[in-house]
This record gives sequence, C-alpha cells and structure tokens, in this order.
Amino acid sequence: MSADWMAAAGGHEAVLDRALGAYLGLALGDALGATVEFMTRREIVARHGVHRRIVGGGWLKLEPGQVTDDTTMSLALGDALLRGEREGRPQDTTLIADAYVAWWRGKPVDCGNTCRRGIQRYLRDGSLEGVCSDGDGGNGALMRNLPAVLATLADDEAFERVSIAQAHVTHHHPLSDAAVLGLGRVVRAQLAGADDAAAATLVDALVAAVPAFRYTPYPGRASGYVVDTVQTVLHFYRAHDDFEDAVVGAVNQGDDADTTGALVGMLAGARCGARGLPRDWVARLKPDVRRAITEQTAARWWRGRAPPFPRHRAAGGWLTGRGPGAPGGGGGGGVCRRASDLSGGPVEGSNACRSSHSRTPARVKVRPMPIYDYRCKACQAEFELLVRGATAPACPTCGATELERALSRIAPAGRIAGVVAAGRRQAAREGHFSHYSPSERAKLPK
Ligand code: MN
Ligand code: MN
Repeated sequence: MSADWMAAAGGHEAVLDRALGAYLGLALGDALGATVEFMTRREIVARHGVHRRIVGGGWLKLEPGQVTDDTTMSLALGDALLRGEREGRPQDTTLIADAYVAWWRGKPVDCGNTCRRGIQRYLRDGSLEGVCSDGDGGNGALMRNLPAVLATLADDEAFERVSIAQAHVTHHHPLSDAAVLGLGRVVRAQLAGADDAAAATLVDALVAAVPAFRYTPYPGRASGYVVDTVQTVLHFYRAHDDFEDAVVGAVNQGDDADTTGALVGMLAGARCGARGLPRDWVARLKPDVRRAITEQTAARWWRGRAPPFPRHRAAGGWLTGRGPGAPGGGGGGGVCRRASDLSGGPVEGSNACRSSHSRTPARVKVRPMPIYDYRCKACQAEFELLVRGATAPACPTCGATELERALSRIAPAGRIAGVVAAGRRQAAREGHFSHYSPSERAKLPK
C-alpha cells in the first residue's frame, strides 16, 4: 500500500474504520438475515412484524449472533490471502481453494450446492475452476469476495484477477463475475475515500454495463440468483442512508435474506465505518466471529504491531473510538482462530463472551426446509422440490430446466416428511449438514 494511496484515502485509521465497517457489516447482515432466510415477506410480517433483532433461529436453528457461510467463507478467503502473503505465495489460488476445503471439512452450518460442487471438483481433479456453467449463476462467489477487495486495494489488475480467481473455484458464470467485480469496485472506492455520490456513480456504471442488474423500479425478488441478489442489494443500499434501515429493508424481503443482508451490510458498513454500526447489533455478534474479522482487517494495515483488537464486551476499544494509537486502545488479542474453526456449529466463547449473549434466545418457530413449488414451462407439470441456494432444479416429469418458481412458498410441514427424509439422506451422502439440528449433528458418525 503506497503512502500516496493511504494519504488520499484519509489515512490508516480512516481506512481501517471503513474496512472494519464493511466486514462487520457483512457479518451483521448475515446474522440478522439468517433468521428469515427462505421465508416470504408475508411470513416474516406474520411472525416478526419487522424483523430487526439478531435473535438467531431460522431454518438453520442458529444461536443469536451466529453467522452462516457468507461470513465464514469470507473468513476462509481472508485467511488464505493473509497466509499467502506471510508465506511468500501472495494471491495463490491453490491456497484459496485449500481454505475452502478446510472450511467445508469443518462442517459449516450451511453450504450452497454450487459451492459444495466446486469444492468437490477441486478435491477430485485439483482444477481451480470449472467450465462456465448456467448452474453457477448463484450468489455464492459474490457473498465472500470482500477479503479479495481488502487484499488488493491499490492494485486494479490484482483486484480483478484475485476476485475472479476466488470466484471461479466454485462459480463460473458471466453474471456472477460481473457482480463480483461490480460490487467489489464500489467497496474499494468507498475504502479509498469515495463519497456517496462517487459510489452512486459506480453503481450507475455497473447497471449501465450490465442491464440485468437494473434495480429501479425494484423488481422485488431477493433469491440466491445473482441477478436478484444484486438488484435487492443495490436497491436497499441506495434507498437508505442509514446502515440499520438499509439492512433491515433487505432482510425483510426474505428469501436469501442472509446473503442480501450481508452484502447490503458490507456496502452500508463501508459507508458509515465501524464506528457508525449499531452498537447493540455488534454486541450480539459471536465474539469469535467479531474477533476473527477484526484481526483479519487489522492484520492488513497494522502488520507488525499489536492488532487493535476490541475487548469482548460490546466490541469495546475500537468501536468506542479508542484506536490502536490511543492510550488504552489496542492490546493483544491472542491468536486469530482459523476460519475453518468457526464454521461448525455453535462457537464456544470465553466467560467474558458468554455474558454478552446470556439472554435466552427467542423461540422462533421455523419450518424445517426450503421447499419450493415449481411449474415446468415445457410440460406444465407442477411439483415441489427441496432446493438449496444456487441449485438448478429440473422437472421430474420431462427433465426440462426452464422452471417457474413460486417464490419461497414453503410447503406446510405435514406434506413434506418424505422430502425432508430424502433431503437428509442426500445431505449425509454429500457431507453437508444444513438439514440437521445441532443435537442430530452431534450423533452423526464421525
Ligand atoms: Mn448463508
Ligand atoms: Mn443465503
């Protein structure tokens, strides 16, 4: 990072504050949105009114403040990039792919099908990207790209190369690529000190270059298809100046709420900086996640110094304005945990951490599985399918993949026992455990 770049961006502390705002904002949107992932707007209204508290639950049965793959895959990527820099293999895509494997082997609470397929392909043949495929149009590469942005802030060529390389490990699709680069450009401009008008200009340029991303008038779809995701993210990011309003707006659209929430949180968090994030939300984040994010971000700009790691309680130090240079700020934070350690189940906190989430988790009744209704455009058959993230489902009657989805209509619990059982068997075969409760997961053969 050149001194000129840093001076133009407003100095170390300003850049760190915005970077931390983006990264913590991503985790906050993920933690908030996961509660209502795969629900419809109407179901959210019926159950929560406006959903605006980090309470966990959701179809993944999370603890309050727990995050999902959006955040933990980002941490895996960030970990790989930092390790590469330390070990003299900077921006090495093999390290990134290895980190995704380690993340996956850590039994993450959730893993989209496209991510899993890409990781399995890499394990099978060592290839760092698959062939360009229609099935790769999900948002899984987009959701985790922030660390690639942070690693390449002053280098346009490296930003594009690393972003696309990390994306293609699991997602090879032109619209995914365009989204990864497009939102990445907005964040890196924000981190470099661009004001809101300049960021808006970049958003406009993205939509002009990729008309599919047009979000005005807002089409109202918030699925895991990368086009729907980008439209939703841009709409709520641009519609609200306030971080909380923007994230709450996005997650209350339901559907892929944790991912839209995470990405709005990233953009709005870069805009307001870590100090502008809602304190009570940050206090709810799992301490290990908060710590890993803070240490990854700090490691990038404070190399060789003690990280400005916030004390556990309400993320004290840094967020209360006592930066690393300030007396009483900073302090050692211990060793950063590997991102893969964070991906599985509930994370144990220290005693100091426990007090921050000692309130009883709200009981959120959630239907067990994301099962959607489809209509086949070819043979008109109507059927329901269990789908995950970016799966490209096919008609069971004629095999066509041109399907019309009844957005997020989840079948009533009584009708889905057979599908649930099949989904669980499939999950066990494939090695991901989204469909198991924590207690069931503990009983699985290792
Ligand atoms: Mn997720
Ligand atoms: Mn999601």
